[in-house]
Amino acid sequence: MTDNYLGKEIGKLGFGFMRLPRKGNDFDYELINRMADRYLEAGFTYFDTAYVYTGSEEAMRKTLVERYPREKYQIASKLNMLNVQKPEDMQEVFETSLKRLGTDYLDFYLLHGLNAMSNKKCEEIGAWDFVKKLKAEGKIKHYGFSYHDNAENLDEILTNHPDAEFVQLQINYLDWDSEDVQSRKVYETARRHNKPVLIMEPLKGGLLANENSTLGEFLKKANPNVSVASWAVRFAASLDGLIAMLSGMNSMEQLEDNIKTVQNLKPLAESEMKVLQEAVELLNSIPRIPCTDCKYCVEQCPENINIPALIRIYNNYLVYNSTANSEMPFRMATMNRGRPSSCITCRACEEQCPQHIEISELMSKMVPLYE
Ligand code: SF4
Ligand code: SF4
Repeated sequence: MTDNYLGKEIGKLGFGFMRLPRKGNDFDYELINRMADRYLEAGFTYFDTAYVYTGSEEAMRKTLVERYPREKYQIASKLNMLNVQKPEDMQEVFETSLKRLGTDYLDFYLLHGLNAMSNKKCEEIGAWDFVKKLKAEGKIKHYGFSYHDNAENLDEILTNHPDAEFVQLQINYLDWDSEDVQSRKVYETARRHNKPVLIMEPLKGGLLANENSTLGEFLKKANPNVSVASWAVRFAASLDGLIAMLSGMNSMEQLEDNIKTVQNLKPLAESEMKVLQEAVELLNSIPRIPCTDCKYCVEQCPENINIPALIRIYNNYLVYNSTANSEMPFRMATMNRGRPSSCITCRACEEQCPQHIEISELMSKMVPLYE
């Protein structure tokens, strides 16, 4: 279940605090606490959050830091270049993260969502020296970065910063050979530089977990005794050089399923890899917009358009070739917010989108369909 990376034995299932379950306007703390208890009891210890995940660091303090001895788990948080304009801002963001989390150190600190452009800002503002200084001061134990760009640029970053201790990558079987996300290529690049890897989006924001879908039907036919999600978990968690695979779980069922899969981890057999290849072909034959609901775009939009919610609606249209049943979700998505026709095509959202979605063009396609 574990490998000895970065001086600690860490169970390979990480608990992502980006998409926490909600109750009304707040997080569902009763459920989150139960999930954290069960997760720790099962022997897992890695919790992932970020300065930009609204309310997430505070939720981690309440659920974890205020309820368990600090040495019982690891906390990872992230510094996003969107939140800093000058070098002094980095210290302020870091101190804010510590305060929200109620801790005086982080186990893992990541430069958040690097690509060629944001890494340029890291270089200019001195972010690499900043994280090195934090480590020397004992305020963080390890530093690395999460990454959303191609293999070539990753190679350049790792060549220029051999001191980065690990890389967090978007890896799942659907994106493994995709030219956009380049899961395989970025993974192989990181490993060539001898970096251990954290995996994010192993279920592609839940898209690879849905039992009631064409994919679900296909995988259930291949093996009715396992969950659809377990295929994606086994694919990611079996990779060599893994620190942990992060999953943004928001129900006990998902947590139990992931625990079961990772505790009894069996790498996929050749015949199962073939099934996944066929599943990928099937999914690829249904054109969809690959939004993971990360919401990086939303903060950038001057018209306050709920982009991921609208993309979900549009994806239904693409799959079912119909706008039936979309009236209510569309009304909810646009309540007190911009509509597709509000888009001024500034493309600020597109600069932040890790999936490289052409959001402004999509908005113009939605206008005649829904307005
Ligand atoms: S391009 Fe449209 S959707 Fe994107 S940030 Fe600008 S106004 Fe918002
Ligand atoms: S459109 Fe892109 S940035 Fe926005 S939520 Fe979807 S994946 Fe994230």
